[in-house]
Amino acid sequence: MTDYLASRLRGFETTIFAEMSALAVRTGAINLGQGFPDADGPAEVADAAIAAIRAGHNQYPPGIGIPELRHAIAAHQQRFYGLAFDPEDEVLVTAGATEGIAASLLALCEPGDEVVMFEPYYDSYAACTALAGATRRVVTLRTPDYSFEPDELTAAITNRTRLLLLNSPHNPTGKVFTREELELIARLCVEHDLIAVTDEVYEHLVFDGEHLPLATLPGMRDRTVTISSGGKTFSFTGWKIGWVCAAPALVAAVRTVKQFLTFVNGAPFQHAIAHALTFDDDFFRTFVDDMRTKRDRLCDGLTAAGFDVFEPAGTYFVTTDISPFGETDGATFCRALPERCGVVAVPNVVFYDDEDAGRSLVRFTFCKRLDVLDEAVGRLRTLATVAP
Ligand code: PMP
Ligand code: GLN
Repeated sequence: MTDYLASRLRGFETTIFAEMSALAVRTGAINLGQGFPDADGPAEVADAAIAAIRAGHNQYPPGIGIPELRHAIAAHQQRFYGLAFDPEDEVLVTAGATEGIAASLLALCEPGDEVVMFEPYYDSYAACTALAGATRRVVTLRTPDYSFEPDELTAAITNRTRLLLLNSPHNPTGKVFTREELELIARLCVEHDLIAVTDEVYEHLVFDGEHLPLATLPGMRDRTVTISSGGKTFSFTGWKIGWVCAAPALVAAVRTVKQFLTFVNGAPFQHAIAHALTFDDDFFRTFVDDMRTKRDRLCDGLTAAGFDVFEPAGTYFVTTDISPFGETDGATFCRALPERCGVVAVPNVVFYDDEDAGRSLVRFTFCKRLDVLDEAVGRLRTLATVAP
């Protein structure tokens, strides 16, 4: 690797998710680290993929994605948010949200540009900003409510700022940005003529409040690249069917890069996700209700085990502080946890530039069966807390 990338990808030689999942496999521990469900999504969706394979949808699909899926994505944005996108030139299918993010940053940033993002940040934001030759400027979300200082955000925007990258609902904190916060972000984007790239993969996992796409705010429709995927919503994270919705010129730029990253992806799975997106509101309600039960179960269990728990309003992650155990280093804690009690978690510090802000924070996922969560909690309860 070049020195340039090595310096900017410090800490990302292996993603924390790969490292922690490998640790879980090696030790046989319960994996509450990497966020993937332990039960597949609806059989009907799996059957649609199998039917698509049997029907011969196995060669390169169109570069922008099959029409059925592009229409289903546009209809989804209209149904849930009242956002109208033309499936012909305002929707692009990508290899997961991951490729949508990578292609957007590569297409829209020049070397020397700055990208504003909140920390903790999802690891690929830092990596793809570096790949684009751009520089990240981070604004810290601070516990206990993961709010940010408006002045810090304003100060992070300079005359080099090209775009702002937003993730809501937010991984790893579970924060759902409020309308007031989004209004401030939108106002700054308009004022400084910034492009917004939004990662909304947890859009259907909001327990408290509501998911408001940034693109719905005044002045944002045509300057926002909205990204999501079917992985989380339909519990098929390995299929990697994602999408980008934006104004035609932005989609054209992202598509230009996408065609040289993967060209196309997942032909039969595109058919299956197109079908899944047409599910009625009941499906989406049941999905979030089920996950809320799991959130409550894990949050209660972690609290009982002694963790300081920051209850998430969205996503399928909960962040905790390990200080009650007399420990301050989340990375050391997570590397030892399988040995100590047979559970794997993720140290949030890897998602921070300001390591002090994230040192004692540890993330657990609750997208697992209730009996698995109960077993994990039982094991975590063997950890000894210290008197405050
Ligand atoms: N963004 C965030 C915030 C995520 O947590 C993930 C993990 N699924 C992704 C993007 C990647 O999504 P996909 O699997 O669709 O590439
Ligand atoms: N998004 C998942 C998480 O945060 C992991 C995806 C990955 O392994 N890159 O756990």
